[in-house]
Amino acid sequence: MTADPMNFRLDLLAIGAHPDDVELMAGGTLLKMAQQGYKTGIVDLTSGERGTRGSAEIRLREAQAAAKILGLQVRENLGLPDAHLMLNEAGRLKIIQALRRLRPRLVMTHYWEDPHPDHRMASQLVTDACHLSGLAKLETGTPRFRPQKLIYFMLPQTRLTTPTFVVDITRQFQRRMKAVRAYKSQLYDAQSKELETRLSTPDFLDRVEVDLRLYGNLAQVKYAEAFVSREPLSMQDPVAFFRRVGPKRG
Ligand SMILES: [Zn+2]
Repeated sequence: MTADPMNFRLDLLAIGAHPDDVELMAGGTLLKMAQQGYKTGIVDLTSGERGTRGSAEIRLREAQAAAKILGLQVRENLGLPDAHLMLNEAGRLKIIQALRRLRPRLVMTHYWEDPHPDHRMASQLVTDACHLSGLAKLETGTPRFRPQKLIYFMLPQTRLTTPTFVVDITRQFQRRMKAVRAYKSQLYDAQSKELETRLSTPDFLDRVEVDLRLYGNLAQVKYAEAFVSREPLSMQDPVAFFRRVGPKRG
């Protein structure tokens, strides 16, 4: 992607279909970037009002608590319809307006293959919006803007998809799990009378940890989050890059 030579307001913006999607898949990376002084943010496309557990108000409060834990500068909700995300002009325009307002250098969103239709739609909507946002003649009252790069999280659970890269979040692990646990209404609670979901089973957080260990193992670190780039990663200096990130040996 080519970037307009304009100011970036955020360094990293993650866009998820529902509050908690980003925390589950990329919370450690957002936290790590914030700890390194980058400006980070999350935009949730819907407030999860049709989720089996909790309500829009509860999930909004939980999302704000998680934002504090991750050190985000920005957390917004675009109010698109949960369970009804569609590839339409209204949704695309809201995302374009958010991109032009927040001006992120790097954007991350859902992988394009996912059993949840909202996740698939979010992937396509964000991909399209990142491109269209750069067109000057698509007028929204704000100047055109295109992020430098778009990457994808929430790789298919079949594990047949090899990440393009993983981010070591070993040091961020405890705090990123605290951000996930901020979504109390979605997780296991022996007292709750609400219907069970995949997230609310007693072993769900253990399975999240196993995933992070698996990706960490690929890079010989304890915990990592995984991402995919559609394009090959180009680098100016492979020697410096691999010297910095290579595993310690011997
Ligand atoms: Zn979701």
